[in-house]
Amino acid sequence: MHEPIFTARNEAAKRHMKEGDPVSYRKALDAALLHRAIGLAIESAFRFGQDLPVGAVAANDNWITGRYYSSDGRLSWPPMHAEVMALIDSEYNRFVSIPDTLVVTLEPCDRCQDSIASTDWCRIKRVGFGISREEVAERGLVIPHEETIFERTARLGYAYEVFKVDDDQLYKAGGLILDFVQRDVTNGSVRVDKEKLNEALVEFNVHG
Ligand SMILES: [Zn+2]
Repeated sequence: MHEPIFTARNEAAKRHMKEGDPVSYRKALDAALLHRAIGLAIESAFRFGQDLPVGAVAANDNWITGRYYSSDGRLSWPPMHAEVMALIDSEYNRFVSIPDTLVVTLEPCDRCQDSIASTDWCRIKRVGFGISREEVAERGLVIPHEETIFERTARLGYAYEVFKVDDDQLYKAGGLILDFVQRDVTNGSVRVDKEKLNEALVEFNVHG
């Protein structure tokens, strides 16, 4: 299933759109995609709550072609990350719409960077994210990497452009989800405080 990028409820796009300005249109598109990815991360948090909540969408200029979120393995699939799953979801749709952009709530890990570069049925030209790995590592939720995605993909000569989506509201929303995630350092398990996250999201929607 593919779906439109701009919907009536997706306010994120409106903050960037300026009539007749292609740069602002691009920014609006990226913000709308991150907005959708954050929605998927929230879905992951409430549906599973035992994995770092991450959401991702694959898209082209017209359609969201695939979407996915982190799961805790209860679907008995291998623990693939949201961005790779969004590409797999897109593949079902490949005869209708081919993605060239991927937007993820958190900076993709090394393994996902490699998978995106080696996808053979479509060519991803742009990879955007909301929150850097360094920031997630500072919260004790992931292991810090030596190189950022910008440095690593440049070193390896990957063909896609990497960007951080520039939107304060979405940045706050993405961080808010992580505020209620805890990782147990002894066994690596993750727990989301769903009740507190729910309260915070309501508060954010009313006053944010
Ligand atoms: Zn990954």
